[in-house]
Amino acid sequence: MNIKKNLEEIKNSLPEKVTLVAVSKTKSEEEIMKVYQEGHRIFGENKIQEMVAKWEVLPKDIQWHMIGHVQRNKVKYMAEFVDLIHGVDSLKLLKEINKRAGLCNRLIHCLFQMHIAEEDTKFGLSKEELFDIVETKEFSELRNIRITGLMGMATFTKNETQIRKEFKFLYSIFKKVKEKLPTVEVLSMGMSGDYILAIEEGSNMVRIGSSIFGERNYQ
Ligand SMILES: *Cc1c(COP(=O)(O)O)cnc(C)c1O
Repeated sequence: MNIKKNLEEIKNSLPEKVTLVAVSKTKSEEEIMKVYQEGHRIFGENKIQEMVAKWEVLPKDIQWHMIGHVQRNKVKYMAEFVDLIHGVDSLKLLKEINKRAGLCNRLIHCLFQMHIAEEDTKFGLSKEELFDIVETKEFSELRNIRITGLMGMATFTKNETQIRKEFKFLYSIFKKVKEKLPTVEVLSMGMSGDYILAIEEGSNMVRIGSSIFGERNYQ
């Protein structure tokens, strides 16, 4: 597994406006440093404890993205350093992030995670739930968070038509929510298996793990 070569290939395949999040979950500090040494600074993790442990020992100019499901009682561990939280799927969670960000004197950038896949195992909001949250007074009063965009995962399938349809749907919600929230600019969609399709459908942030670091031994 040549991490350096993989990274270079991925970077060369991305249009300039697309931000790469190198998904380093389950990968070692040594493996992360190989990517870091190539000048890359944005890494994604899906478990808060694992991200905290890596943040403690790795260079402090790394921008850590939390891409996994967030439990409210763990927000406090990452509030002082997390750069972007991709998986916000309730007002309750957003309020906790806001509170913890306030205690650290920070403004934490967040994405709403949207449910676009067929599988019901994946977390995320429906379009209706998203607009319900955005229209509440409580939401408008949160001062220490900023919603900068949306994130979504397509169904795990080889059916490109289906994946494309789900990405198109997410893009349409993105366009709509942008009209309501001027701070929205990020559309985080696309992983190793589907990022080319995602970019064609309007993604400007891709989360890529196995195509850079190789297969993971455990999820
Ligand atoms: C693991 C993970 C990825 C990266 O998956 P790959 O298929 O290895 O690129 C992207 N997004 C989320 C939310 C993940 O949990």
